[in-house]
Amino acid sequence: MSKNLEIAIAGAGPAGLAAALYLNRAGHRVTVFERFDEPKPVGSGLMLQPTGLTVLADLGLLDDILALGSRIERLHGTDARTGRTVLEVRYDARRGRRFGLAVHRAALFGVLHRAALREAIAIETNVEIETLETAERATLVCANGKRLGPFDLVVDASGARSKLRQWLGDAATPRPLAYGAFWASLAWRDGFDTGALLQRYDRASVMVGVLPIGRPEPGAEDMAAFFWSLKPDDADQVRAAGLDAWKARVISVWPACEAFTGQIDGFEQLSLARYGHHTMTRPASRRLAVIGDAAHSTSPQLGQGANMALLDAAALSHAVAHANGIDDALDAYAKARRWHVRIFQALSLSLTPFYQSDSSVLPFIRDRLVAGLAKVPPGPQFLAAMVAGTLVDPFKRIGLAESQWPAAG
Ligand SMILES: Cc1cc2nc3c(=O)[nH]c(=O)nc-3n(C[C@H](O)[C@H](O)[C@H](O)COP(=O)(O)OP(=O)(O)OC[C@H]3O[C@@H](n4cnc5c(N)ncnc54)[C@H](O)[C@@H]3O)c2cc1C
Repeated sequence: MSKNLEIAIAGAGPAGLAAALYLNRAGHRVTVFERFDEPKPVGSGLMLQPTGLTVLADLGLLDDILALGSRIERLHGTDARTGRTVLEVRYDARRGRRFGLAVHRAALFGVLHRAALREAIAIETNVEIETLETAERATLVCANGKRLGPFDLVVDASGARSKLRQWLGDAATPRPLAYGAFWASLAWRDGFDTGALLQRYDRASVMVGVLPIGRPEPGAEDMAAFFWSLKPDDADQVRAAGLDAWKARVISVWPACEAFTGQIDGFEQLSLARYGHHTMTRPASRRLAVIGDAAHSTSPQLGQGANMALLDAAALSHAVAHANGIDDALDAYAKARRWHVRIFQALSLSLTPFYQSDSSVLPFIRDRLVAGLAKVPPGPQFLAAMVAGTLVDPFKRIGLAESQWPAAG
């Protein structure tokens, strides 16, 4: 296809910035529109999987992110009452020197944003995109009525609450999940494994987690993402009962976490994350490609969202480079991502209640089945592929190869 497309991207999150880098490097004229007055990350930490790291390697940003993040070799979960190990997933259960990388959101954002600035990609802030209109080309309509364009292609990377996707007939809002979590980014404390995501559970209604996330920016101190599972509907009640009562509850589940709760002086240090689940059936058509959380959002239990956002960006740019026209490219993008997205969305939706729900049956099954599966081949390999995001090959149809992953390991 022509190398000279005029492309608008709504949203400067991981999906939007990665797509901007790919499409700009392919020779297109790219403008990113972001509703915030300055682009910034929201939230605490996240896990980059071998999938997302492969995309960052393809963008030439692997060393930058490795320098900031914390290398994760395993996920480890313990039953708070018995102390028994009920989850053990090791990335290296599969061949290759795989690992995850836990990062502060600001680190991922900073690496992508700095690259976009270096490459002089236009990022216009304070622009809230509301909808689009298409004739020959596409025109964006902002919340304040301003019109932008025309564009050959619009990329919706505006996250889970996208309004733009309605253009493709998808008016659904993400289905709220019963549980969310309090999250905080805190100073790292010794005594916790720096190479693991550690979690403690009491059935599925209580979960506390500690994830080493490295540094938000070069030179900053090492940090941890600390999370406490709860129903968003109960958050006001928890706040009303007071910070000390909440801390006592956390410490009763995992005494060592006093090292983290001791750093919290008020509930304003805890962000309440609500989770919703939504998967578009057809994320591209009529000059609009929907990528990242705008196309598929879910709970972070499997830690795939940002990685799938990066894969979407790579898939879209590959499709645009190899198709004969915009319609062909949108079709190829949707096809390339279809099964990977559907399978991981389904896995996330079905597994989340085993870790976050009021059920006593599901955690009972979890504590026997997953613990058992983790010990008998091919159980460890299966669990490693699920967490790595490679249970279904996400690379083949988007011009990436897992063999690229990663010499730097
Ligand atoms: C608590 C929590 C933990 C998570 N942990 C993990 C994890 O471990 N691993 C993982 O892979 N994923 C994780 N995720 C999911 C991950 O954060 C998302 O999948 C990822 O951020 C999606 O990226 P995105 O660019 O699609 O959307 P976003 O990051 O939501 O970015 C969207 C951008 O669009 C902008 N925007 C929104 N509306 C408009 C508009 N109308 N006009 C212009 N701009 C707009 C927003 O301001 C934002 O900058 C977690 C999520 C949460 C909430």
